[in-house]
Amino acid sequence: MEKMLAAVFHKGDKISGDIKLEEVDLPYITKNNQVLIEIKACGICGTDLKIIEGGHPANDDTILGHEFAGIVREVGESVQDLEIGDKVVADPNEKCGYCINCRRGLSNLCEYMAQGTTFGIFQNGGFAKYCVLPRKALFKLPDSIDMIAASLVEPLSCAVHCHNIADVKESDNVAIIGAGPMGLIIESVIRKHPIKKLICIEIDQWRGQKALELGADHWINPKTQDVKQEIQNITGGEGADVIIDAVGIADTFEMATKIWAPGARLICFGQDYRAEAKIKPNDIVRYQRKIMGSYIGYAEDFLDAIELISNKVIDVEKLITTMIPLEKLISTGFKLMKERKCVKIITTP
Ligand SMILES: [Zn+2]
Ligand SMILES: [Zn+2]
Repeated sequence: MEKMLAAVFHKGDKISGDIKLEEVDLPYITKNNQVLIEIKACGICGTDLKIIEGGHPANDDTILGHEFAGIVREVGESVQDLEIGDKVVADPNEKCGYCINCRRGLSNLCEYMAQGTTFGIFQNGGFAKYCVLPRKALFKLPDSIDMIAASLVEPLSCAVHCHNIADVKESDNVAIIGAGPMGLIIESVIRKHPIKKLICIEIDQWRGQKALELGADHWINPKTQDVKQEIQNITGGEGADVIIDAVGIADTFEMATKIWAPGARLICFGQDYRAEAKIKPNDIVRYQRKIMGSYIGYAEDFLDAIELISNKVIDVEKLITTMIPLEKLISTGFKLMKERKCVKIITTP
């Protein structure tokens, strides 16, 4: 049987796991509603690192990679609206359409997804040459779109969703905690809208500089600066009206609750299953603040992200800092991620 290179997750002990590049069998269509795609590009996500480090669950023996775009190579009998050669991007979070959350318009919280069904985390994903997906997990792309850029549709859809949840207004000072890939993609989306000040809070030099290059008005380094004082200085004593915690650990959450303006919205975006933080409920009551979560996105956020990329509203080239062949996923890709010297790293099979 023909083989392909793939990055496979192995659970190991229950807390953390390992990823290995292996030769695996080519996947093939087994159901009428499936599509075989040839992957053209797959981005590395912070979640991939968290999986290996034990901060995010994943299934044993699964091909990772959930940010990918490719070309249709074969379709199941019941797939009528896709043709061989069509460009597609995967929405790795398959929704059932009939659970109570789907029916209440919260399809991003679909109960079927909660069982652990995400492609590239719980089912085989995009760190490989081919992948089989159900038709409903695919969005058709315009022919003109660049396939490398298209691999950013998934993370961009999460950023679009986050921006919508935050309901950012022109009169807002916005602070983003964490200039990792997602923090910077969210920054790029927010930068496209009129606001007061856009402030990045980041401990790493390289990432802080990158945030400035991508359009942040200020970068605060909590290692060397008093974050609360700096925010006071920048906002003229008002504090941040919108804070996006793109890290999701206790320190960053608690930091957010030190810099929030009266009436502020704190959006919890970064995820770490292990984090537990302290908060004073009266700080929320007395100043009528909101704490909200932003979790992946709706189908409409995917459509918006496709538009933003294909119309070049978001300059994806600035976000893609490294291109590597899949063989270098671990030696170069994860290494750069750990060293924090990257925004998006895209692999090609
Ligand atoms: Zn991701
Ligand atoms: Zn559902």
